[in-house]
Amino acid sequence: MKFADNPKQAAEFLRQAIPLMVKHCIPPNPLNYSLWYAYVSQALPALNEQMNKALEIYGTCPNIISEQLFRDFLITDEVNNAEDIQNALLSVMGDLESQASTTAQDTEVYNEVLQDSLAALRDSSDDQSLEMIIQKLAVNTETISESARLFQNKIDEAQAEIKSLKQELEQSRQDATIDPLTGLYNRRVFDLELGQIANQTPPKVALVMVDIDFFKKFNDTYGHLMGDKVLQYVGKLVKDQCVEPLMPVRFGGEEFAVLLPGKTIAEAVKLAEAIRQKIMAIRIKQKKSGTVISSVTASFGVAVMNADEAIESFIGRADAALYQAKEAGRNNVQTAA
Ligand code: GH3
Ligand code: MG
Ligand code: MG
Repeated sequence: MKFADNPKQAAEFLRQAIPLMVKHCIPPNPLNYSLWYAYVSQALPALNEQMNKALEIYGTCPNIISEQLFRDFLITDEVNNAEDIQNALLSVMGDLESQASTTAQDTEVYNEVLQDSLAALRDSSDDQSLEMIIQKLAVNTETISESARLFQNKIDEAQAEIKSLKQELEQSRQDATIDPLTGLYNRRVFDLELGQIANQTPPKVALVMVDIDFFKKFNDTYGHLMGDKVLQYVGKLVKDQCVEPLMPVRFGGEEFAVLLPGKTIAEAVKLAEAIRQKIMAIRIKQKKSGTVISSVTASFGVAVMNADEAIESFIGRADAALYQAKEAGRNNVQTAA
C-alpha cells in the first residue's frame, strides 16, 4: 500500500480527513487519523467500502469497528504499512505545523500593520466611520491570529499523540518478533531469515534443532513456573553459544533452533554438542537445602541445506534427525541424511 510521499498531497488528505471526522463525530485519536487518512486517500477501496457501510448503518464509525478496521487493513499483514502511515502523518503534521506558524506570524504582522494604520488615521483624520472600520478589521485580525494559535496548539497535541503511537508501534513490532519469555527471536523471524537465505544460490546454511527432553514430565513434577525458568535458562545457554551470524530462536514450546549461515555440518554439530553439554550441566536445586533434585537434558537434530532444497524439506530433515536423537535415548546429537 502506498501513501502519498508528497507532503502537499498528504496535507491535503489530512485537510479533507479532519472535517469528515468532525462531521461523523469521530474521536480525534491517532488510530482514527490513520483510518480517515487512508479513507480520503482511497488507497484501500475495501476499507472505504467497510467504512461507508458503518457510516450508513450507524451514522458514524463506532470505535470497535474502527479498531478492527485499523487492525485488518493497516497493521495486519505488514506492520511496516502502519509505520508508513505514521511517517506520512508525521510529515503531514510537520507540514501543517510550519504552515500554521507561518499563518500565525503573518496575521501577527498584519495586526501590527493595522494597529499602526489605526494610530496614523487617528492623528490625521477625524473620519469616525473610517476609524471604526479599521478597528473592526483589527479585531477580526486578532481573532484570526487567536484561531491560528489554537490551530497550532491542536497540531502540537496531534504530533505528540502520533509520536506516542509510533513508540507503541515500535513496541508491537518487537512483540511480533521477540519471544517474551526467553528474549530470543521467535519463529516468525526464523522463517523470514531462512526465507532470505534460501533465495541465495546455492544456499549455504546449517540448522540445529533443540528439544528439551521429557519436559512435560518436568512441568508435571516441578510446576509450570519452574518449567518457564528452565526454558529461560536454556534459552540463555543457547544464546551464549551463538555469535554472529548465528541466529538462535525459540522455535516454539520447549524447542529452540539455531540458523548457521555459511556454516558446515561439522560446525553445526560442534555447536550442538557445546549446547548439549551446557544444558546437561544444569542442576535444579532445592531452594532451602541446596540439594540437587533434577537435571535437564536436550536432544538435537542437525542438517545442512541442499542446493534447490525447499525450506520445508530442510526443516523436515533436521526434525527427523531430532526424532532419531530421541529414539536413540535422548541427550544426543544426530545429523540428517
Ligand atoms: P520429549 O523428550 O519426547 O521431547 O518429551 P517432552 O515431554 O519434552 O515432549 P512433549 O511434546 O510431550 O511435551 C512438551 C512440553 O513442553 C509440554 C508443554 O507443557 C511444555 N511446554 C511448552 N511450552 C512451554 C512453556 O512456555 N512453559 C512451560 N513451562 N512448559 C512449556
Ligand atoms: Mg517438542
Ligand atoms: Mg521435548
